[in-house]
Amino acid sequence: MTGWGDEPRKGSERTKIVLATRNLHKVEELSRMLAGLDVEILTCRDFPSLPEVVEDGATLEENAIKKAEEVSAGTGLPAVADDTGLEVEALGGAPGVFSARYAGPEATYDDNNRKLLAELAGRAPAERRAVFRCVVAVAAPGAETLFAEGRTEGTILEAPRGDAGFGYDPVFLPDGHDRTYAEMAQEEKNALSHRGKAMQGARGLILEVLAGSARAAGA
Ligand code: IMP
Repeated sequence: MTGWGDEPRKGSERTKIVLATRNLHKVEELSRMLAGLDVEILTCRDFPSLPEVVEDGATLEENAIKKAEEVSAGTGLPAVADDTGLEVEALGGAPGVFSARYAGPEATYDDNNRKLLAELAGRAPAERRAVFRCVVAVAAPGAETLFAEGRTEGTILEAPRGDAGFGYDPVFLPDGHDRTYAEMAQEEKNALSHRGKAMQGARGLILEVLAGSARAAGA
């Protein structure tokens, strides 16, 4: 037992893996990206007493690794965590690692988008260049933590467009497309998104980490 309410695993059960998030948008995106892997996907919502991970790292890498390792340690299961930041060149890389709380500790997605558009008010498209960067970390008991990165470049629009997705999706126009992330169907966003690219790399890492963890358990 691990102490957070999960049941002991039986030999015939599929390997369980925990998505280290409570954000339902992310759970949906990440679950679709892991489709086809022979694993049972759980999330932090399946472990209500698991403490919230404090995202106090100086970089996306530090936060992703911390989330994956703490959730893996707390559940006794392999865990996958992502940390994402929107980096705007003209703002010196802001909001970056502070993307979730750009407009303040309790900021909503709308608050953050309003602040971003205000900061860029009056700037020409060339000064509105941005990159979404996502780091996915995979941790498991007895295995070395591994991580993969995905990046998607684009432009910040002058006004939000679209209702799908979350966060900065309505203001981000990926290069080579005429619709924002928030105007795309989920599959379409996943195929070109920062998180989709990071998860493509992470699929192989998940298999590696699961194998390492199984070896450690058998040793
Ligand atoms: P997190 O720390 O990885 O949860 O991401 C930080 C913030 O970045 C979130 O609160 C969102 O505002 C934003 N974000 C993360 N992923 C996306 C995305 O795929 N689209 C738009 N915004 C995102």
